[in-house]
Amino acid sequence: MNTKFQQLVKLFQRLPGVGPRQAARFVIALIEQPEESLRELGESINNLKRDVSFCNECFNISDNSHCHICHDMKRDRAKLMIVEKITDLESVEKTGLYKGLYHVLGGAINPLDKINPANLRIKELEKRLGEMAESNDIELIIATNPNTPGETTALYLRELFASASWRKKSVSITRLGRGLSSGSHLEYADEITLKNALEYRK
Ligand SMILES: [Zn+2]
Repeated sequence: MNTKFQQLVKLFQRLPGVGPRQAARFVIALIEQPEESLRELGESINNLKRDVSFCNECFNISDNSHCHICHDMKRDRAKLMIVEKITDLESVEKTGLYKGLYHVLGGAINPLDKINPANLRIKELEKRLGEMAESNDIELIIATNPNTPGETTALYLRELFASASWRKKSVSITRLGRGLSSGSHLEYADEITLKNALEYRK
């Protein structure tokens, strides 16, 4: 087998959910593309870090300093949903049921992967909450995944919030509820399950 081919297959396997067979299929599909479109793809990947920026408030992908959700004055500014990743935010947005704001942590606490609270956007979250709780009673919805890292993060946040100095106004903290089976990922939950989990948050 060609070593350059194998090298590219290995690179594709770094993407979430891509196994060796699928990676090989991707590379074969690329070989069949015209040179020009390959160059276009390469350039987009090359410039990805430079061209894609994040919302200063919630860390969603954005063209500007504030994403379309943070920008939307019709959203309920007393509700904040804390998610691990942008893909989780997108899954919840698809249900059309949630009208509050988000905060994307950038992952979940996982000592095995050397991800601790300092690697997540928790400082930024606390700063935001401080500002939000100045003037409003707020509801925090902890929507980390129902697996070990997600539960660890949820517990960590609850403990952190319990003693927070910004809790001048009333703060209710909920977690997505029934229907989400333990060990699963929000990102792959179907819309009906997510709707139930939102509706029956506890
Ligand atoms: Zn935003």
